[in-house]
Amino acid sequence: MKITAIRLTRLSLPLDPPFNAAWDPAPRIAFPATLVEVETDTGLVGVGSGDTMDGFAAYEHLFLGTDPLQILNQVRRIETINFHGGRYWPLEAALWDILGQVAGLPVSVLFGGARDRLPAYASSGELKSPEARADSALAARERGFKAVKIRIARHRLFDGIAAVRATREAVGPDFDIMVDLNQMWRMSGDIEAALPLAQVQRIAGELNDLGVLWLEEPLPQADVVGAKRVRAATGIQIAGGEMVRSMAELSALIEADAFDIYQPDVVLAVGLYRARQVAESANLRHRLFTPHTWSNGLGLLANLHVAAGVDAGPYLEFPYDPPGWTPERRDFFMEPLDIDANGDLRVPHVPGLGAQIDWDAVRRYTV
Ligand SMILES: [Mg+2]
Repeated sequence: MKITAIRLTRLSLPLDPPFNAAWDPAPRIAFPATLVEVETDTGLVGVGSGDTMDGFAAYEHLFLGTDPLQILNQVRRIETINFHGGRYWPLEAALWDILGQVAGLPVSVLFGGARDRLPAYASSGELKSPEARADSALAARERGFKAVKIRIARHRLFDGIAAVRATREAVGPDFDIMVDLNQMWRMSGDIEAALPLAQVQRIAGELNDLGVLWLEEPLPQADVVGAKRVRAATGIQIAGGEMVRSMAELSALIEADAFDIYQPDVVLAVGLYRARQVAESANLRHRLFTPHTWSNGLGLLANLHVAAGVDAGPYLEFPYDPPGWTPERRDFFMEPLDIDANGDLRVPHVPGLGAQIDWDAVRRYTV
């Protein structure tokens, strides 16, 4: 089998009202996405999305004419480009979509087939008042979610902790709350210093007292010693690694026992194949893997397949923060993914990734 064409379609969904992400000083007025379609000489088409694929035209020729089924070679090929340019993991997702179609199996089965669904947590992204954040957690619980994640902005720590406290008071003790400080990577151009270790330790102590299940990315990636000190001093679990750029870096973090939970996004960090290796390395050391999923519905779907296949847990991230971020906005170019009444996100029971692309929406939002 040979790859005969790779099509990239740039999409942009205007956001009205805008989305005020906790990790981004500028409100988002549009949500971009890149849809990757890979065509083969046998007429199969695979789709993927996630990272932007910026600059891919310079490397497209390295893939045309190659065999999509030689997946390890394709992963290595993408890794050689990662050194010089972008991270083209949405292309790998599209290749797995083809592999699944050839095998007649959901991609999750090719990754281990451990589960056909995973419990999802409502992952919030906007800064809201403590009252509004507590109300949103109650509404999420009402909808079936068993857990929520709250993002705290580094310039509004007091408000953030107040939001976690208000949420805990509203939901009671039997509902999981996670907190993300987003200190491990930055939006381009954001050169402000990370939070000092002593301050992070104080925050971690307060959050631990509020029964927070995990504290995500409290420190820069290099500060493995700091992460260990925070864990030892407070007992809180630490999660991280969502955007780590190479498998070598992730392996070093696991070797150093940097975190309790490893979160590489399969379409942003190190790809699908390598994410399975991360999951296995983490599990061998009695640590957890559950990927970051914050791109769009197709990126979430690729993460769902890998996560279900390798038995990730305890929850899968489900980006959800209405009215700013709904499944309809997040998945604007496809049939939106949603949880069932139990709070689980189910793997589609069809060969490949099982995305139902809305081609009218693709045409409407192409830029
Ligand atoms: Mg995060």
